Amino acid sequence: MAATSDSRRVVIVGGGFAGLFAARRLARAPVQVTLIDRSEHHLFQPLLYQCSTGILSEGKIASPLRDLLRKRKNVEFVLAEVTGIDAAGRTVTARRPLGEEIEFGYDYLILAAGVQQSYFGHDEYAAVAPGMKTIEDALKIRRRVFGAFEMAESADDPAERSRWLTFVLVGAGPTGVELAGQVRELATKTLSREYRHIQPKDARVLLFDGGKAPLAAFGPKLSALAARDLKRLGVELYMGCLVTEADLHGVQVKDHAGNLTRYEAGTILWTAGVQAPPLAAAVAQATGCQQDRAGRLICGKDLSLPGHPDILVTGDLMSLDKLPGVAEVAMQTGMYAGRRITHESQGQTYDKPFKYHDLGSAAYISRGRAVISAGKLNFGGFPGWCGWLFIHIGFLTGWRNRAGALLSWWTAFVRDLRRERAFTMDDLPVKLYEREVEPADGGLRAVPRQTASATDQPEAARQARRPAP
Ligand SMILES: Cc1cc2nc3c(=O)[nH]c(=O)nc-3n(C[C@H](O)[C@H](O)[C@H](O)COP(=O)(O)OP(=O)(O)OC[C@H]3O[C@@H](n4cnc5c(N)ncnc54)[C@H](O)[C@@H]3O)c2cc1C
Repeated sequence: MAATSDSRRVVIVGGGFAGLFAARRLARAPVQVTLIDRSEHHLFQPLLYQCSTGILSEGKIASPLRDLLRKRKNVEFVLAEVTGIDAAGRTVTARRPLGEEIEFGYDYLILAAGVQQSYFGHDEYAAVAPGMKTIEDALKIRRRVFGAFEMAESADDPAERSRWLTFVLVGAGPTGVELAGQVRELATKTLSREYRHIQPKDARVLLFDGGKAPLAAFGPKLSALAARDLKRLGVELYMGCLVTEADLHGVQVKDHAGNLTRYEAGTILWTAGVQAPPLAAAVAQATGCQQDRAGRLICGKDLSLPGHPDILVTGDLMSLDKLPGVAEVAMQTGMYAGRRITHESQGQTYDKPFKYHDLGSAAYISRGRAVISAGKLNFGGFPGWCGWLFIHIGFLTGWRNRAGALLSWWTAFVRDLRRERAFTMDDLPVKLYEREVEPADGGLRAVPRQTASATDQPEAARQARRPAP
């Protein structure tokens, strides 16, 4: 049945896994769909860490939404940020790129806006410890990680050099573990022959987490396997430790015994915790619905908000039966929302509750090492890595991205090459801190101790302090 001008209007907020799968499902329904996203792309978040460590380009994990939706004639994409909702008037308000506000009327609203990084009440840490949720985050991390090796290479003071060669990661869930493994791998393999004054393999990677073990959600067996593999890679694990301060020079950490220790580090990356975006609070206010501790919207088993059968919540933004924030939940909830609206727009009732089919999860540790948990199947090592490869190729969006990723993995895994890392002097960590760290925040004001450029030093003095190449 084709959509006509008097067809029902469906507005989807967010073009991640949930929003995209809902739009695709609705492409066969007699409805007019408007998908609004503040990014022009659909992002494959599970491979962000490969983008931030130079293996994949951003284009391989971010596909233009206009391109993905070009054949769905009843779907329009709008680049805008949704800021508010009028549940009684059935409209959402959005801000377009030039700042003007625009309203979209709807008969059905699908909320698929995902979540953002949580700093557990310390948002000021974000300036010194970027999280990893968006392409911008991945590129920022890439510049900081590769930039840190350059800073170390041009530092004359051994303490400063060692600080730049120290990487702190906060959070030992899949993203923290994947990033930790990648930083050690690029230090010991890709960069090992590229520098003349530092030994990249000396880079320390410290992984902190308040829990007892890395990848705790994968169960004790895989968690122990991951801990063993990380230690073999040279990652230093600090479990049962909470970061209590983060600044330009490092972190302060409280261990399980309550002792406070300071760790000097040039790079701090934050992968612990998520929270709902501000839009969730606006929706809760407009609809009277409840939010969970992370601010996600608590919905019913048909994904609708209580008292609002026309508003469905999907993906990471949704709080239902403690379902995890993973891509598979997002895809399945998006498809469910699309299916329900399709049935109802054809005059049929749809009263099946949403049921999640758990297909398992995977986490990458290093080349040839990954863990997979799928029902009773729990395995790691090389078989886990092969499974990881297979799953990720299958889920990447578009055959071009799949072919490109395979080629990049071939060069990274077989030849140790990471070519996606172009940056200039303006992108070096000291410059970034000057631009990005809020001057209003006294605690973060300090500029890095070593800001003088190497060329400011007399040449003989510089050479005297350098280790032999
Ligand atoms: C680094 C990382 C690694 C991960 N690894 C895995 C993994 O290995 N396996 C797995 O299953 N899951 C993984 N996940 C989780 C998985 O990616 C998420 O569960 C999934 O992306 C959630 O999909 P979503 O559509 O709900 O939200 P998202 O994919 O976050 O999409 C939300 C969209 O909404 C848009 N948006 C947000 N607010 C607004 C607004 N106000 N107006 C307009 N647009 C807005 C955003 O731009 C975005 O495009 C990972 C996540 C991250 C961050």
